[in-house]
Amino acid sequence: MAIATPVIHFIETELTSIPVYQYAFFKPQDIVFRDVLRMYCKRSCRHYKTSWSCPPAIESVEKCIARCLACEDGMIFSTIQTDLPRNLSGTMGGEQQPVSTAHEQVTGRIEAIMKRAGKSCYTLTGNVCTVCRSCSYPKEPCRYPDLMHPCIESHGISIAQLADLCGIDYYLDDDAKMQFSIIFLSDPA
Ligand code: SF4
Repeated sequence: MAIATPVIHFIETELTSIPVYQYAFFKPQDIVFRDVLRMYCKRSCRHYKTSWSCPPAIESVEKCIARCLACEDGMIFSTIQTDLPRNLSGTMGGEQQPVSTAHEQVTGRIEAIMKRAGKSCYTLTGNVCTVCRSCSYPKEPCRYPDLMHPCIESHGISIAQLADLCGIDYYLDDDAKMQFSIIFLSDPA
């Protein structure tokens, strides 16, 4: 089911107060999933086997794709990377405290908007989880499973292809770097 027009209007109004560069809605069924991307995680990514947000800690690529396809809608958005410091809080009482980059803060705010719009969210981001200074993988369970977002490519999704499909930028002409997230949306059961 497509997102109802009043819900879209609510979301778009809320987004005006958030430093998002571009965003677009899409249908998960329109993504050309490439499970071979999971192989690239293993062969080429330095984060492989280092985080609860990356393979092999996450589900199989088949299950990840099925999870995305089970959602009714999706939204991709980008932010321009800034040099703003993370909200570092380090450790407190010996416990790791969560931290977040500017992009992760935007992702959290957009997730909150979606939830206020009555949607359930499954969120992916374009990088390894950086919520903790040092990931607990594999010795201890993830410290913040509610804040951890698996990475996009591990789900067989090419950000460049999806950006092209949605008509948003993947590259910028100047040296500015973009970061991406995707939120898959469904109506609560
Ligand atoms: S929240 Fe912490 S423990 Fe969990 S995946 Fe992210 S960095 Fe690792």
